[in-house]
Amino acid sequence: MKRIWIATTLGLIILLNGVLGGLLSAERGASVQSMMDVASLATTHSAEHMEELMEIADRTISVVSEFMRISDRIIDLDEADIHRLLVRQHSITPILRGLFVVSPDGRLTYDSRTPHPVGVNLSDRDYVQHHVNGGADILFIGRPVVSRTNGAWIVPVSRRIEDRFGRLVGIVTAALDPDIFSAMLEASPLPEGMQTAIVSPSGFVFGCLPSMDCLGRSAGDWPLFLHHVQNPGTTTSTMRGSILPGVVGPGAYQVSPRYGIIAAANIETREAIAGWLGRLPVYFALDLVLSGGGAALSAVLYRQVTRRRRAMQDLAEANARLEQRVAERTAALQRSEERLTAFVTTARDAMLVVDGSGTIQFFNPAATILFGYAAEDVVGRTIDLLLPGQLSDRRDLGRVASHGLEAQDAVRELLARHRSGVEFPVELTLGMSHSEGEPIFVGVLRDVRERKLQQERLWQLANLDPLTGLLNRRAFMERGAALLEESWRLGRPVGVLMIDADHFKSINDGFGHQAGDDVLRLLAGILGSAVRGGDLLGRLGGEEFAIILPGANGPDADRIADRLLADVRQAEVPVPGRVLAVTVSIGISVARRRSTLDDLLAAADRALYAAKTAGRDRRAMAA
Ligand code: GH3
Ligand code: MG
Ligand code: MG
Repeated sequence: MKRIWIATTLGLIILLNGVLGGLLSAERGASVQSMMDVASLATTHSAEHMEELMEIADRTISVVSEFMRISDRIIDLDEADIHRLLVRQHSITPILRGLFVVSPDGRLTYDSRTPHPVGVNLSDRDYVQHHVNGGADILFIGRPVVSRTNGAWIVPVSRRIEDRFGRLVGIVTAALDPDIFSAMLEASPLPEGMQTAIVSPSGFVFGCLPSMDCLGRSAGDWPLFLHHVQNPGTTTSTMRGSILPGVVGPGAYQVSPRYGIIAAANIETREAIAGWLGRLPVYFALDLVLSGGGAALSAVLYRQVTRRRRAMQDLAEANARLEQRVAERTAALQRSEERLTAFVTTARDAMLVVDGSGTIQFFNPAATILFGYAAEDVVGRTIDLLLPGQLSDRRDLGRVASHGLEAQDAVRELLARHRSGVEFPVELTLGMSHSEGEPIFVGVLRDVRERKLQQERLWQLANLDPLTGLLNRRAFMERGAALLEESWRLGRPVGVLMIDADHFKSINDGFGHQAGDDVLRLLAGILGSAVRGGDLLGRLGGEEFAIILPGANGPDADRIADRLLADVRQAEVPVPGRVLAVTVSIGISVARRRSTLDDLLAAADRALYAAKTAGRDRRAMAA
């Protein structure tokens, strides 16, 4: 990813640089081309100008030449007339420094600048030699020279004068002022650094720019001249070649068609593209900014993209983790719910859930067994149906509900009602919780009938005599003490009867132990029906019974004892073969201040002994 990104970025930067390079190269080419066009235009213009100048000079010369040819026929033509003609022609042609005539032997004969020339020898001049040696009858444009008359630089332009037989009679020469060439070059608006020159057809320099000491110098070895000689009649312009000596770059030269004067312009490539070069740093800076900016942008984009990708990856991973966790939690919840359901449905205890208003929401299978209702018959009805009048409203529920496992009063014993209407004791454990912000109560109910019976049995075992169902000695003593205490507190009298069967041993011996037991149960029944609600009856052991009579004084106790004797006497105990008569003896004691139950029983026992001794089936009062 990173490698591809870097490669793409580099590729784009290279492409950008390629495009910029192409643009730069095209602009450079355009700069060079434009310089070439300028050079071409400038030289064409200069060549035309030269043509005009030469034409002016030619016309002037031709006038003089024509006049002299004619004057040759007029023998008596005055020398002064010729001079006047020269002066006049000179004066109307301002580009001239002089207008003069050279004789065929090379001497200066007439001169517009002086009426009497001293006959300066000019036979060594190139134009004189051209005409004397019978060169073509053309306007000969000679090499620039220093005038032998006045020492000024001139460019001699000449034509031959012939008589009617075609013989050379003189050479008329116009001395051009070379300043006009440099002036003309200076007048043309050329780009900075561009060099120009004007060269004669025979290869001598008339003028150049920048102005140097070039006048009259030979241009024979100049590239333009060599090209011109090798390709006569052509002009050229070049992109990279050389026109002027020492200059390599765009340039052009133009040859004037009629007089063959060459105008040339040439500029160093370096100067031609100076503007372009000047802009290069800007382009480089632009390139740097674009490339650097592009690279930076790419880096930023890359970072953003990778960050985003990483963030997406992280998100995806987090999602996957979350999903896994959700799946795990869901599975765990499911397991937990299954366990809970299994727990609730298989629990032996009845379970139910009621909402804050006491409406039953849930009823487990054990509850359906306990109450005889199906779950659907109960759900939606109030708990009053099952626990009538005990948990009728939210306050009751809140009061009964335990608020933690540690709660001491977590278990309540209530009375439940079966569908059949039978009521039975249940133990309720009610817990409060919240579901969706609302309180809910979860109750666990346990049938405690069996346990109650068990407790009852245990109590009986601990407190009752198994044979007669009366209180045993321990229970009798315990309750008797409390009763005595209470009677003391209330200031009531207490009577105590000690009852013992007479000759019981002989019943056992005579009729069997079973018959003895029957007698004991009979006695218990008689005694039980004789006592009142507040009295306390117990079997103290063997065939011995005791009764505590709260509120009974001596006579009361005596009367009761007497009645008991009578009741027992009348009773009959069937034994195999016959009916037994039974009697008892009774000792009576009445409580005095501070006497304990043991004291009272001991006193009654003593009285009993007295009754036995006195003959049995009677009562005796303790002293
Ligand atoms: P007395 O008239 O002087 O009271 O003589 P008695 O024979 O009744 O007195 P004794 O104390 O000599 O005998 C009591 C007998 O009661 C002895 C015992 O075997 C018998 N006995 C004690 N408890 C039971 C019992 O639960 N069932 C039966 N069948 N006999 C019992
Ligand atoms: Mg006895
Ligand atoms: Mg006895």
